[in-house]
Amino acid sequence: MTSTPPRGLFYAGTWHETAGARQIICPADGAPVAAVAECTPEDATAAVAAARTAFDEGSWAALPERERGDLLLRVADLLERDTGVYAKAEALDTGKRLVEAHYDLSDIIGCFRYYGGIAGTDAGRVVDTGRSDAISRIVYAPVGVCALITPWNYPLLQVSWKVAPALLAGNTFVLKPSELTPGTAILLMDTLAEAGLPPGVANLVTGTGPQVGAVLTTDPRVDLVSFTGGVETGKAIMAAAAATVKRVALELGGKNPNVVFADADRASALDLALTAVFLHSGQVCSAGARLLVQDTIAEDFVDELVARAGRIRLGGPFDDHAETGPLISADHREKVHGYVEAAVAEGAVLRCGGALPTDPALAEGFYYPPTVLDGCQASMACVQQESFGPVLTVETFTDEAEAVRLANGTPYGLAGAVWTSDAGRAQRVAGALRLGTVWINDYHPYVPQAEWGGFGQSGNGRELGPSGLAEYRETKHVWHNIAPAPQHWFAS
Ligand code: NDP
Repeated sequence: MTSTPPRGLFYAGTWHETAGARQIICPADGAPVAAVAECTPEDATAAVAAARTAFDEGSWAALPERERGDLLLRVADLLERDTGVYAKAEALDTGKRLVEAHYDLSDIIGCFRYYGGIAGTDAGRVVDTGRSDAISRIVYAPVGVCALITPWNYPLLQVSWKVAPALLAGNTFVLKPSELTPGTAILLMDTLAEAGLPPGVANLVTGTGPQVGAVLTTDPRVDLVSFTGGVETGKAIMAAAAATVKRVALELGGKNPNVVFADADRASALDLALTAVFLHSGQVCSAGARLLVQDTIAEDFVDELVARAGRIRLGGPFDDHAETGPLISADHREKVHGYVEAAVAEGAVLRCGGALPTDPALAEGFYYPPTVLDGCQASMACVQQESFGPVLTVETFTDEAEAVRLANGTPYGLAGAVWTSDAGRAQRVAGALRLGTVWINDYHPYVPQAEWGGFGQSGNGRELGPSGLAEYRETKHVWHNIAPAPQHWFAS
């Protein structure tokens, strides 16, 4: 019997072998999922070279945008055909429930359809020069070779937000997914090839950030780095990319406020306060991990929330009774637990969770229970820092001004919500919040037509919507003098 070499290094339209391999395990039970290529810096350099050649010498960038859009629509159809395979791979790599992986796939397909659908609808603009002998146009060009670096929480979803607009704009790319969850990025290379993408346009390197990611952020042949991940990594990438003045788009973390006024629809606000923070065990960049609740309703509201949080059922991808899954790794669980212990040490009141589960059925996975920290103050580290786990901090406020001040009181600015039945207040608060996304009487919905990104240290880029495409386009001014004549600026 012949064994297939681990996949993960794909460039110039071909899978390549690597010297090293990594075993991917399912965080729900520690079971082996697949062996994946562990690429070296030399492998990453080879992938960049392939992307550069395909951009400079290939036909992709010169195709009519409509044709590139048609390819994206074919990719969407293929993903729909293969949804079961993709969803299972995503569930095994992340440990998330299979049903959630299916929701993700639906969003991923929607992203490819959105960018496929807008192809050719914005070719630039004509500028009025005030002269009859000159035509001035603003047109778009692809940026060139893009390094796309993505995290583990929504592996293929984050990839799709980058790959679809990058391709539509005519770029080539090298993708580096998280070392923990590369399965669906590997499948995507096959799907893109089946859809007819020319060799060298899509390239993949699997491996660690310091090994292969660092090459992508420093190689002078890379024109743009689009990164989604943690703030500290984002800062390092920005610094690394500065040496060659690459474009850098950062989508970073958040410590997202969920602001509940006393006049809110209580049942909905309470129900969605749970979803806001405990969805995917809090491993969501926009998780509503800071509850700000008006003091007049705080006690009852938090009591009921704690009671419901304590009943959330944990389990693996194929457990029909599970309501949420494990954390991504033992290391991450240790960090989350350390964050909770530090919060209690600085004065937070532990209302539920905060200890590893004792259920033997969960013993092999990296589970952590929904945890509520009451009595928090804005100055506490637990309020200022992202845990990226199922941990809610609770603060109270007395009036609208204080609610806004507290909500804006972290270095982040990704997303958040305001709950109130007063439409005027809802609009005032939404306007005052320094966040890239504000939900009013809701939490978490998004559509590919609407931009996603952060204020402050939550990042400097925008994904989705027209701005998500603009990230991958250069803007060029073309001036055409249609009746050239000497100007005699200089006498002779
Ligand atoms: P990390 O920042 O640790 O890693 C993200 C990616 O960067 C991984 O692929 C990682 O590789 C890579 N990387 C690490 N170091 C370098 C380096 N020096 N050069 C190049 N690449 C590098 O984030 P996590 O994967 O832990 O993801 C969690 C974070 O992502 C959270 O802070 C979360 O808030 C944020 N996030 C933000 C989103 C948004 O839309 N704003 C969406 C989703 C998550 P490796 O394989 O070694 O880990």
